[in-house]
Amino acid sequence: MQFLADMPVEEARNWLTKFNGVGPKTAAIVLCFSLGKPAFPVDTHVYRVTGRIGLRPEKMTVEQAHPHLEAVFPPETYYAAHLNLIRLGREICNARKPLCPKCPARKLCDYKDKTK
Ligand code: SF4
Repeated sequence: MQFLADMPVEEARNWLTKFNGVGPKTAAIVLCFSLGKPAFPVDTHVYRVTGRIGLRPEKMTVEQAHPHLEAVFPPETYYAAHLNLIRLGREICNARKPLCPKCPARKLCDYKDKTK
């Protein structure tokens, strides 16, 4: 994998996504967690929470969300932002019933169906 580590991030991303079954999420996970490169993986929790909070347009696809969120966050925060959004999605901003009264991001959140 050293050759991947030596590539610029976009070149490495293009190389990874040439493989069948490797989409933007998997490529970003390899880039971020294995190679320490600035990439922002968007899994189901990150996608849901960023849509609710208003960090991306609601109708945006998950594929579009990758470059969008990479533009929203400074690269040095990708790792922490990704992990914190996953934690928020797993523990508080659940898919079926978000626990908005307990949410630390409540005041920042645009979600129109916020629970009271
Ligand atoms: S306020 Fe509610 S909808 Fe908004 S991020 Fe928090 S839990 Fe999710």
